[in-house]
Amino acid sequence: MPISHFVDAKLGDAHSLEEAVGYFEDAGICPGEVVQAVIEDRDDIRRSWMHISPSMMDPDKNCRRELVIARTVDYGMDPLSMWSAYEGTAWHKAFNLFGKDIKGWHREYPLPGPSDAHNPYVRKVEREGQTFYELEVFPGLWISGIADRVREDFKVISDFKSTNYPWTPKFEGTPRDYAEDQIKSFSIQINLYARAIELLKGVRPEERWVWRIYRGSRDKRYTFRKMPIPFIPPTQLEELVREHSETSLAFLRQAHDAEPGAAREAVIASIPMDGKDKRMYNDKKCSLYCPVKDICYGIAGLTVF
Ligand code: SF4
Repeated sequence: MPISHFVDAKLGDAHSLEEAVGYFEDAGICPGEVVQAVIEDRDDIRRSWMHISPSMMDPDKNCRRELVIARTVDYGMDPLSMWSAYEGTAWHKAFNLFGKDIKGWHREYPLPGPSDAHNPYVRKVEREGQTFYELEVFPGLWISGIADRVREDFKVISDFKSTNYPWTPKFEGTPRDYAEDQIKSFSIQINLYARAIELLKGVRPEERWVWRIYRGSRDKRYTFRKMPIPFIPPTQLEELVREHSETSLAFLRQAHDAEPGAAREAVIASIPMDGKDKRMYNDKKCSLYCPVKDICYGIAGLTVF
């Protein structure tokens, strides 16, 4: 499995999976639960296989080189580097404590799931004792994912996203609630889920929503806000994702098939550095949010900062 150990980023020392929960807790770096969440996620077979999900298909948000390194090269992870990605997962767990079933809704709904096994667009995948299903969302492009919430009649889909709360100037200037950027950022993923529902259930969701959960807000005006996601027609959606998804899988295949070491590094060196080249997340993708930056920059011969 690619995450082979954890790293204390301040001291630079390594900690095995067995001792990391205790180490990071006792050192006051993060609660043991954060490390445990990474360990459990790591063992999902889909993370180590030729598989993609809707959240990985937006070319403006996902770095192909990161995907390939994370799945084919053993690396040490700083647990803090992934926490922002797990924040949303933590919210799901919190909501489950209040009741997994909300009247009228399916929650954490697999697309596709076992009930879709006989759908002509679905195939069953069995690997290392785990089973999951994939959907041919566009010809030759197989995906699977879990939608946060789907109404029982499949006409409405909504997702939870933790986001920054609106910025209000203290003296002068225009308030910003970032909705425009966020709609753009979430649209491809939500529309892929909607497309999956249409193929699996024969119903096109009429409404697509994101519940924004504002991070760290103690102001009740900025706690939750519901935001509509515009419809992207299937042909346009396919155009947006096909090239990025196909090349992600092709690079992944090449890296898997190459011998570990120099041959695999040569494949990785040929993959575009999307995070850097596309200046993702306002240029912060590589420095703040990439757990494999040291390996990527090392192969590229760039200084790690
Ligand atoms: S450091 Fe940047 S370019 Fe390299 S893999 Fe990570 S996100 Fe991609």
